Amino acid sequence: MKTLTGKDLAAAIRAQTAAEATAGPQPRLAVVVATADDAGLWYVRSIAKAAAGVGIACDLVDLGPDARPERIGETLTRLSADPNVHGVILQTPLPAGASAQELAGSIDPRKDVDGANPLSLGRLAAGLPAFPPATAAAVMALLDHYEVDLLGRRAVVVGRSTVVGKPLAHLLLDRHATVTVCHSRTRDLAAVTSTAEVLVAATGRAGLIGPAHVAPGAVVIDVGTNPTPDGGLTGDVDFDAVAGVAGALTPVPGGVGPVTTALLLRHTARAANLP
Ligand code: NAP
Repeated sequence: MKTLTGKDLAAAIRAQTAAEATAGPQPRLAVVVATADDAGLWYVRSIAKAAAGVGIACDLVDLGPDARPERIGETLTRLSADPNVHGVILQTPLPAGASAQELAGSIDPRKDVDGANPLSLGRLAAGLPAFPPATAAAVMALLDHYEVDLLGRRAVVVGRSTVVGKPLAHLLLDRHATVTVCHSRTRDLAAVTSTAEVLVAATGRAGLIGPAHVAPGAVVIDVGTNPTPDGGLTGDVDFDAVAGVAGALTPVPGGVGPVTTALLLRHTARAANLP
């Protein structure tokens, strides 16, 4: 079984991004935050640190956990109109009553570097240029990095969120995989997932995917990041048990996660260079 780590790929993407970011005017990413959630704030700080490492300016726009949806929307509109800002992301969770999908509609698609505006998903579905959500793009980047053939292959995605499952299904379809999307109402999940040559788990359910869910030799990508009681992270795949069946498997942490952050920054550098 091959472990598909994301560390080297993420480093290569960061190096390319640093070269792109320093070739022209400095790219600037604005991260809008309206939460007191520890995990959300930790993620935002990690983006800011990674941005600094590749020469991208990063502004944290903290509206506080009680921000009204109107204020969040106005802020996204203002940042989208600011010629000095090239990428805009809205960190979740949001205050009660605020819908991330509704609000992300205020992000200019050309600055929507995490593919959150429903227009970006629509363009992706239509095969038009758009920034995909960085996580979905990271899954594709890992598959490419490890030269996983997708043409005509049976791919199963478990999870249908607009940030991971749905955009990923479109990206896999574009690469000519035969795609099935599973969710919480799927009957006999293992019967479906065990047909996959490429299996992606994106559910947020720790250990949901066990050996019975996986075909011998399958490539398994674990998007899940579930907190453990000791302060660590674990995936949606029971790594040790599935390692005995799968042909290749991403670890958590150290698989999809580092590539996601690197691609968010690459998208920002590209957004800064759009004609
Ligand atoms: P989400 O919005 O909660 O969606 C979860 C999806 O999983 C839903 O479609 C749900 O089905 C499905 N699901 C839940 N339980 C299931 C079950 N027992 N069997 C089959 N399907 C089930 O989550 P998300 O935002 O897509 O995130 C998914 C995971 O990826 C989370 O662990 C998140 O932390 C992680 N994540 C990681 C990164 C990264 O960079 N590594 C980035 C983003 C997210 P229904 O639609 O029927 O409810």
